[in-house]
Amino acid sequence: MERFSVATRYREEMINITRNLEELVIARGWRDGALLVFCPHTTAGLTINEAADPDVQTDMTLFMKKLVPKASTFRHTEGNSDAHIKSSLLGPHCLVIVEESRLCLGTWQGLYLCEWDGPRTRQVWVKFLPGS
Ligand code: ZN
Repeated sequence: MERFSVATRYREEMINITRNLEELVIARGWRDGALLVFCPHTTAGLTINEAADPDVQTDMTLFMKKLVPKASTFRHTEGNSDAHIKSSLLGPHCLVIVEESRLCLGTWQGLYLCEWDGPRTRQVWVKFLPGS
């Protein structure tokens, strides 16, 4: 398994990690199969969405803040239940096909680390699953 870290800057944000993954695939010489990308945190996660217009990430982040407000009647004493809920809503992993050492993403897609309780340093775990 490979790992890399991502330093987030805000409490809530989406960071495009597609380039990190592409560089890892090339560096390791992985050719055909799939990448299982996993975020081992309970207040962050991963998703695939549009990478062309940064307003999409802004809109998604604002929507998630509105959907699950921080100030609420949650019981968890750490005070970050909203981040735990957002993390589970988008999930901790993505699976991406790799062909000829290229990630098979749609034209507008990118893979994002979604921070819901930053800023922190987050880990991303990557497992290459070889196959033709
Ligand atoms: Zn917590």
